[in-house]
Amino acid sequence: MDDQYTAVELAAELDHVASMSPEMTGPLAMLDEEALGWTMRYPQFNAPHQAFAQARAQHWPRTRTEDTWLQVTTTARALATALRELGDVQLQRCTEQTAWGPCERVLPEQGPCRGANQHAPSPEGTQ
Ligand SMILES: [Zn+2]
Repeated sequence: MDDQYTAVELAAELDHVASMSPEMTGPLAMLDEEALGWTMRYPQFNAPHQAFAQARAQHWPRTRTEDTWLQVTTTARALATALRELGDVQLQRCTEQTAWGPCERVLPEQGPCRGANQHAPSPEGTQ
């Protein structure tokens, strides 16, 4: 799960969608999920990510047409363009421990981790 794409690398994957087979819905799901992580830190990706997610939702074996595929590739490219503007940055994830392992939630640009209440207390009250 921990692919650690930079914004530019994820953009390249999204651009690559246009040269994939329309039958290949697996990579679309992965890209959708990856992009969702970026919207948690960078709200400016909400709109292009939602457009891509919606296009993907229309593009199922029984409902897909050339038109739904066109929507998928168009919205993937728009999302790629937005990500590329961010540049060569990685998505920052929380490194705190919880009771069941590393937290790894995407950190917001400002403020504490959304899962802070699930972090394990640090030993002896130190940070
Ligand atoms: Zn956390």
